[in-house]
Amino acid sequence: MSAPGVLLIEDDDAIAAGLVRVLQGQGHQVDRLALGRNALEAARDDVGLVILDLGLPDVDGLEVCRRLRHARPDLAILILTARDQELDVVAGLDAGADDYLVKPFRLGELLARVRAHLRRAGDDSAPFEVGEIRVDVGSRRAWRGERELALRPKEFDLLALLIGSAGRVVTRQRIMEEVWDTAWMGSTKTLDTHVATLRQQVGPETITTLRGVGYRFELT
Ligand code: CA
Repeated sequence: MSAPGVLLIEDDDAIAAGLVRVLQGQGHQVDRLALGRNALEAARDDVGLVILDLGLPDVDGLEVCRRLRHARPDLAILILTARDQELDVVAGLDAGADDYLVKPFRLGELLARVRAHLRRAGDDSAPFEVGEIRVDVGSRRAWRGERELALRPKEFDLLALLIGSAGRVVTRQRIMEEVWDTAWMGSTKTLDTHVATLRQQVGPETITTLRGVGYRFELT
């Protein structure tokens, strides 16, 4: 079976041409749509990642995102927004997007995210390894270089969740749901405290705070 491909939905011809060239240069199979209305038909089973511009001329990008998520729960969706607004980002993540980039973005940043998303389709049981951090979910052990980390249970769960989504934002809501088993949206001081202690173990640069949104484990 060939590697999952990328579907790019972007109305700006100049941006799209540049992205297609760069992605193809990295060996990815890429299809491009300039409009959103045929997104569902184009997101065939061999597409593993959709890069979706939210500002499309024919349909609301958020609606496209919702429909794609509904039709293909396993699909990775990376939204592009020109509007540097927290609300758009949050609305996009609520509509089912896995990740976002705000224009203008660095191509290196985009390529790192694309690699991370397409790798997710690979073997789930393999240990996660990003930079000098390695996490084996099966044995619940984690290392920084040669040194094994002494993590409390929630710190381990948090690390596993973040590194499993390395390069992508994980929302505070998702962390609360998956690590603390609660949709509690009030004060999340406990979460901040755990991130702070985790950072001491994995290195402060490793986990980025996206204020009001969540956290991202950085690809190196
Ligand atoms: Ca646009």
